[in-house]
Amino acid sequence: MEQGYAGSPGLYEFLGPRWVEIEVTALENNLREVRRILNPSTRLLAVVKADAYGAGAVEAARVFSRAGADYLGVTTLAEGVELRRHGLIMPILVMSPLLPEEIPQALKWDLTLSVASRWGAEAVARAVKETGRQARVHLEIETGMHRTGLEPEEVKAVRDVLRCPSIVVEGIYTHLSHAADRRKAVEQFSLFCRICRELEEEGLEIPLKHVANSFACLSYPEMHLDMVRVGTLLYGQYPFGAKRRELELKNPWKVKARLLHVKEVPAGTAAGYGGDYVTKRPARLGTVPLGYADGLGLTAIARPKSLADLLRFWAKALLAYLGRPHREEAVFVRGRQVPVVGRVGMQLSLVDLGELPADEGEEVEVNLGRSFASARLPRLYLREGEPYLLRLPTGEWRTLKDSLAREYV
Ligand SMILES: *Cc1c(COP(=O)(O)O)cnc(C)c1O
Repeated sequence: MEQGYAGSPGLYEFLGPRWVEIEVTALENNLREVRRILNPSTRLLAVVKADAYGAGAVEAARVFSRAGADYLGVTTLAEGVELRRHGLIMPILVMSPLLPEEIPQALKWDLTLSVASRWGAEAVARAVKETGRQARVHLEIETGMHRTGLEPEEVKAVRDVLRCPSIVVEGIYTHLSHAADRRKAVEQFSLFCRICRELEEEGLEIPLKHVANSFACLSYPEMHLDMVRVGTLLYGQYPFGAKRRELELKNPWKVKARLLHVKEVPAGTAAGYGGDYVTKRPARLGTVPLGYADGLGLTAIARPKSLADLLRFWAKALLAYLGRPHREEAVFVRGRQVPVVGRVGMQLSLVDLGELPADEGEEVEVNLGRSFASARLPRLYLREGEPYLLRLPTGEWRTLKDSLAREYV
């Protein structure tokens, strides 16, 4: 069958057999939807850490920046530098302390630093002196996560370490460890507000106070303060446990692959590694070029929280033992769901097509969790269904449609 990517003939030549599609109008829509529930004076920090939750940090950041985000948030120095190298000039907060050795680089790239310990504060003061550069910092306060953050009683001393004309203490924030538990979230929030008040009473008001992640942004308007830090909602999902669902979020994310091979096999064929899957009838098996190295079939296992959780966990294990594994991953061929069968390989897996007609080289859609999707899968950006930009596995870019791939402004 003659193949050609819809609307973009020739694209298949360098797209490869699998890729992730990101519809950028969905990202824009989600940012607008979040804005709708904020006060006009509340700033929006778009979290683009972890490669923008799989959407690809650079283009996601460009889209959010054009759509009116005020700040970007990342976790590592490298993530911040990647955005700067691609021309993003808006403020970027590194939402984690850096090591002393990294700070001069972060200053060079004008990244806003988090200060979460006295050690960190001293390193910033030293780096400012040694490099002659300005530093913009946010104080991170420990209120219950017990990960990073200043203990409430340390804040004033650390504020003093940072007293230097080249250091601007622009913000102060905390991260909720129990966003979905109102009582605990309010406890953390109250502690944070108390610390801000005490600083104010000493004449040390810090302009940007922020606490809210997606959950708090949706559920606790009183926690919006000067800025919210939103990830999950921007990518079209409600945070786990969210009850308020009044936003009209859109999903930007699709994983596609092309069938590398379609094979007819008789009943009783043991397919895949270890012959794990035995066909019960004559079958058509399709090979999909995705495996666990790409994130297919991976799930996060959390500690069971209740007896019901534990029973579900055992039930799944038992079914898997009996040869009926519970499968999150699924493949859609011509809109019909077909099962992934046998052991998922490193980069290849099998689907049982049953009676479905399917051609070799045909496009299929794959359920692949976005936080597991490898950064080495190509990212194809579309505007209203029309592909305009491609990030290749090597990190190189290809512009497919100049008029849509607008330069960053
Ligand atoms: C990831 C992260 C967020 C965003 O969380 P979502 O629940 O995805 O909105 C906010 N703040 C910090 C410090 C984070 O690390």
